[in-house]
Amino acid sequence: MTTELLSFVYTPQQRPDKRPAERRRTDFGEIFDEFSPDRAEVQASRCSQCGIPFCQVHCPLHNNIPDWLKLTAEGRMDEAYELTSATNTFPEICGRICPQDRLCEGNCVIEKGFESVTIGAVERHITETAFENGWVTGPQPLVERDHSAGIVGGGPAGLAAADVLRRYGYKVEVYDRHDRIGGLLIYGIPGFKLEKSVVERRTTLLAQSGVVFHTSTDVGRDISFADLQAKHDAVLLATGVYQGRDIKAPGVGLQGVVAALDYLIASNRTGLGGDVPAFTSGELNAAGKNVVVIGGGDTAMDCVRTAVRQGAKAVTCLYRRDRNNMPGSQREVSYAMEEGVHFEFLSAPEAFLGDDRVEGVRAVRMRLGEPDEEGRLRPQVVPDSTYRIEADLVLKALGFDPEPIAETFETPDLDVTRWGTVKTAFLTGETSLDGVWAAGDIVRGASLVVWAIRDGRDAAESIHLHLEALADAEQLQATG
Ligand code: FAD
Ligand code: SF4
Ligand code: SF4
Repeated sequence: MTTELLSFVYTPQQRPDKRPAERRRTDFGEIFDEFSPDRAEVQASRCSQCGIPFCQVHCPLHNNIPDWLKLTAEGRMDEAYELTSATNTFPEICGRICPQDRLCEGNCVIEKGFESVTIGAVERHITETAFENGWVTGPQPLVERDHSAGIVGGGPAGLAAADVLRRYGYKVEVYDRHDRIGGLLIYGIPGFKLEKSVVERRTTLLAQSGVVFHTSTDVGRDISFADLQAKHDAVLLATGVYQGRDIKAPGVGLQGVVAALDYLIASNRTGLGGDVPAFTSGELNAAGKNVVVIGGGDTAMDCVRTAVRQGAKAVTCLYRRDRNNMPGSQREVSYAMEEGVHFEFLSAPEAFLGDDRVEGVRAVRMRLGEPDEEGRLRPQVVPDSTYRIEADLVLKALGFDPEPIAETFETPDLDVTRWGTVKTAFLTGETSLDGVWAAGDIVRGASLVVWAIRDGRDAAESIHLHLEALADAEQLQATG
C-alpha cells in the first residue's frame, strides 16, 4: 500500500490504459480502461496536498480533492467514496467526461513541470470501487414529507436536484419528453465517452428510492405547465438547450446536410437497440460516406468520432480558427486525430454543392485577425482561397440555443435573457415565477455536465428551504 504523498517528484503521471485507436475505431465502448487499485493508489499519492488546492477551487462542485486523493493513496476507499459523494451526485460520470484539462487538472500546481495528478481517473476509480462493493445506494430519506416537487427534464441538472430533494424526503416526479431518462447523458454524449449502463444504473437507483419518472411526456404538449404548477408545490425547469445553430450558406437546405444532435440521437438510440428509420435508410448514418463536420467544440468531436465508428469512408472536421483556439477539450481533439479524423483548421464552408443531395462543400481558407470583444481572434477570409471537399453527409455542429420556453410553457411572466435562457436569482435558481426554479443549460446556455449538477443541487437546496417554510406556515395555520 502506498501512503507516502508528494511522490510526484519521482512517480510520473500515468493515466488508465487507453485502448489502441485501431481497436476502438470499430466499437462504441469507452476508450479508457479502469485504473487497477495499485495504480490508483500510486497516482493519488502524487498529490502534494496543497494548503490552497487550486484543483478544488476550479472544480465547479468544489470537491474535496486533496482529502480523497490522500484516502485513496492510503487504500481507505470507503472513506474516499464518502467524500466524493458528499459534494458530487455523479462522481463516476464527472470522472469520465469533465474536461479536466480546463478544470481541476488544468489547475493542479504540479501540472507545470511534473504533469497534473490524474484527478478525474481517481474520482472514477473511487466510485467504481464503491459500486463494486455495494456502497452506492439511492437516496434514503429519514422522514417522508407531504410536499412534492415536479422536475421538467431528466438530464444531469434535473437528476441531481431529484437526488437531493428525495434525500430530504419530498415526493419527486421527473417529466421528460424522451423515452429514456438521462438527457444528453443518454442521447447526446456517445458511448465511447460514457457508456449508457453507467447512466442507467443511477436512474435505476433513483427510481428504487421512490423518484417517479414520467418518460415520453412533453411538457407544454402532453401536459400543460399550468397543470404541473397545480400538481406540485415546487417546479424545477431543467430542460436544456436544443435548438442547433444554423449556417447561412447556399445549399444548406440540401438533403444530407443535417443537425449534429439529430445525427447523435439517431446513433445513440440505435446503439440502445431502438429502431430509427432515418438511420436504417442511411439518412443519419455515416457508413461508407465522405463526412464533413462543421464546428470545433465537443459536439463536433463527438460527431467525427461517431462517424469513424459507423464506418465512414473519410471524416473531415472543418473549423474556422486554429487548433489552439478550439472551444472543446484538447484531449478529445487528440483522440479524434488518433482515430483517423482529418482536420481542416482555418477553414469555413462557403456553399454546399449538389442538386438535391449534397455532393461537396466549397470551403474557404481563413486567417486570424484582431481579437473580438471576448478576446478571441476574429477569423477573416483569405481572398481567392476556395477549395472543394467531397461530402455525402454534412453535420452542422455550431452550438445550441434555447427553445422559446416562455412560449412553449405559456408563461409570459417567466423572465428570460436576450439569449432566451431563463433568468434566475444568483445561487438559488429561483425564477420570476412563484414556486418555479431553473437549473442547468436552460439557465447557463450550452455548458457542462458538472455545472448542471452544481445548479441542480443548488436549486434543490433552495426548494427545500421554500418547502420547509411552507410546511411551517401550514402547521401554524392548522394549530391556529
Ligand atoms: P439536458 O442534459 O439537455 O437535459 C434536458 C432534458 O430536458 C432532456 O432529457 C430533454 O428531453 C428534457 N426536456 C426538454 N424540454 C422538455 C419538455 N418540454 N418536456 C419534457 N422534457 C423536456 N458536457 C460535459 O461536461 N462533458 C462532455 O463531454 C460533454 N459532451 C457533450 C456532447 C454533446 C454532443 C452535447 C450536445 C453536449 C455535451 N456536453 C458535455 C454538455 C452537457 O451534456 C450539458 O451541459 C448537460 O447535459 C446539461 O444538462 P441539463 O440537465 O441542463 O440538460
Ligand atoms: Fe474534476 Fe470534474 Fe471531478 Fe470536479 S467533478 S474534480 S472538475 S473531474
Ligand atoms: Fe494535489 Fe494538484 Fe490539488 Fe495540489 S492542486 S492538492 S497537487 S491535486
